[in-house]
Amino acid sequence: MKLIFRGHDDRYAVEQSLLAFFPDERPVYDPAQEEENCAEVALSVGKKFATAVTNLTYGGKTARGVARVAVDAAPDEYELERLRQKAVKLSFFKAAREITGVTPSWGALTGIRPGKIAGRYLEQGCSEKETDRILRDTYFVAPERRRLAIETAKAGLKAKADLAPNEISLYVGIPFCPTRCSYCSFVSASVEKSFSLMEPYLEVLLAEITDAAQMVKETGLKIKSFYMGGGTPTTLSAAQMDRLLGHLNRSFDLSGCVEYCIEAGRPDTIDGEKLQVLLDHGADRISVNPQSLEDHVLRAIGRKHSAADIEKTMELVASMHFPHVNMDLIAGLPEDTPEGFRRTLDKCLGYGADNITVHTLALKKGSRILLEGSKIPTAQEVGAMLDYANPTLRSAGFMPYYLYRQKYMSGSFENVGWCISGAEGLYNIYIMEELHSILSLGAGGSTKMVDARRGRIERVFHAKFPTEYIQREDKRAENLRAFRTFHENMLK
Ligand code: SF4
Repeated sequence: MKLIFRGHDDRYAVEQSLLAFFPDERPVYDPAQEEENCAEVALSVGKKFATAVTNLTYGGKTARGVARVAVDAAPDEYELERLRQKAVKLSFFKAAREITGVTPSWGALTGIRPGKIAGRYLEQGCSEKETDRILRDTYFVAPERRRLAIETAKAGLKAKADLAPNEISLYVGIPFCPTRCSYCSFVSASVEKSFSLMEPYLEVLLAEITDAAQMVKETGLKIKSFYMGGGTPTTLSAAQMDRLLGHLNRSFDLSGCVEYCIEAGRPDTIDGEKLQVLLDHGADRISVNPQSLEDHVLRAIGRKHSAADIEKTMELVASMHFPHVNMDLIAGLPEDTPEGFRRTLDKCLGYGADNITVHTLALKKGSRILLEGSKIPTAQEVGAMLDYANPTLRSAGFMPYYLYRQKYMSGSFENVGWCISGAEGLYNIYIMEELHSILSLGAGGSTKMVDARRGRIERVFHAKFPTEYIQREDKRAENLRAFRTFHENMLK
């Protein structure tokens, strides 16, 4: 669809709306390109109102959407920008809804953190009922999504109330996996191809941990939660993991750390010896990520293990008594069906995990190519999977506690972390709600610096690939310097 903007350049908001309404359309910005389908989105901003008008032509039909948003009370440029975007999104939404007769489940909300909007109203003193009404009447959000947004916002506000200004979280990335999953857009290196890089990577990571711990100490920061992700951290051998966690625990003061989580993502990397190493170093939470318990789906995504392997792994995990265990599932995987997903979730509930994260498949361009020839469930089928997951998890005693959306998600749905009350993974809340800084070490991640008091967020990105990470000492030092400077200014 050809997109023509006047008075703004809000590509992200319009493209997200485009995906929600017209998943097969791709944005075209070249004015010379002939396109039958077209949206012209104009924005004008006066002293009192931002007014957006969308004229949409699709499949021979035309519609016009108009949205007017008050801007006179905006305290700063940041808020003004948010309100301008709101007008743009709403005008596109109204025109697209008129043409298609469809209201997406998240209505006019296109952002990746819909819980933040609910949280803002709750913090301003709105009751849950009032917040629900705003999400319904202003943003046209469907009932179950409003409930998800409000419940996850409440979990976020609870976590926020318990944070001190000098507390941060620590992330360590292990960007290796046994094989690459076909839907993966992460820059993880398959161990088959990069085994020789693991030792040098570990050596450099140990040095970075030493430097980072020194910086954290000198800056007066405290670690509130620790998370090791990837990739698949358990691709490290038991001895390598022991070395890494031993060094980390000796280097950082973890006396105030309330959560120590390791992703033990793939069953084909887990054994009793490694799990014991995690326990011995203080891990109180692990995440096993089968994604599906259907053998043909596991084959379709390139996993080299079976559903029976996952079952054995979960028996092993249960026998070792980790305080908290998460399992990740994905709705919408290639070759899956609503019945297959239902079987997966039902089995998963029998494994004793107190956290279950239900993702919706998000496919970037590169991954789509890898999946050519596979049957990808439709948005309606993914909707049916989630319609089964949410009430089933609720009746099993789970509550949603964090929520986010991604670009290119099937049906423009969401990822939701569910848990038994009291088993919330705080790191997930901190990062999704952007409540405090996350210091990231290793390759493939990004460090997020959050000054919650002043509403400032900055990011620095890390080397993507292990080879680049190993070589770029300058980049590692620069990132730590940026983190130090940001927090010295913040704590002044
Ligand atoms: S386990 Fe995760 S990071 Fe590794 S290849 Fe699969 S999806 Fe990507």
